[in-house]
Amino acid sequence: MAPLLPVATYTSSHNVRLVYDNIVCESNPRRLFKLYFQATFLKDLLSLNRFQFTFCLTDRDDYIIDWDLTWFALNYSPSHDASFQAHHASRHYTFKFKLFLDDLPLLEKLKITHPDLYIDLLTCRSCCLRKEDLMHLILCSKQRTAMHQIFQSYQNHLFSKLREASELADVDPTLMIRKLSSLSCWSISSSNWSSYALIQGCLPKTFIDLFVELSIPRQSAKKVVAAIHNNFIQKLRRRIWNPRTYDKSRWEDAMHITQIKNYSLAF
Ligand SMILES: [Zn+2]
Repeated sequence: MAPLLPVATYTSSHNVRLVYDNIVCESNPRRLFKLYFQATFLKDLLSLNRFQFTFCLTDRDDYIIDWDLTWFALNYSPSHDASFQAHHASRHYTFKFKLFLDDLPLLEKLKITHPDLYIDLLTCRSCCLRKEDLMHLILCSKQRTAMHQIFQSYQNHLFSKLREASELADVDPTLMIRKLSSLSCWSISSSNWSSYALIQGCLPKTFIDLFVELSIPRQSAKKVVAAIHNNFIQKLRRRIWNPRTYDKSRWEDAMHITQIKNYSLAF
């Protein structure tokens, strides 16, 4: 049996700093393994087809995904708001994660899972023009005004928090606000993957960097951005997803799909 060593002997910090590619490596083996497995899981997640769009962003320096911020915003619970009750919270979480994983029951997904009910020719039930995938949900002509408004309110929230932080730091916020408003993610188009990434919940490094430049601690900046993003997700669900689901349900009622689904659920 190995002699018992005093705890301090094997937990004391090493006098070696392991640095790789200018990054200081974790010297605590427990944390090192945890980080290693988290990195492996993230690599596996990003190798899925649905996350291929993240590779289209690698040559854009104005939209570098901050994964730490992304996970923080995904797990962030807006429960501090009095109007936000438990049943809202569970719906909010489900919607947020399904959106992040591109797993919302959009028609293009339903055609695969229920080909008997949703024929391949079926188009979006709101505009009836295009096939309905996640990109279409963002671009649908019926939702354009609402989408524009909630994007505008996302920006305005960030602007007002930046102004508050600038006031505290006694800095003119004009340049910061210009930098934020010039980000490519605010212009929605079918070829712009940064707005797609933002809507899906993959948040950019710039959102945090601007606050950190104004001497706001990173942890506080993450909370501010996560709260604003979660507010955006709530609006997206109420103003885009719910009306879209209403249009789809009306069509399903007319086509007797609702009855068939209820019938199969009963048995
Ligand atoms: Zn549409």
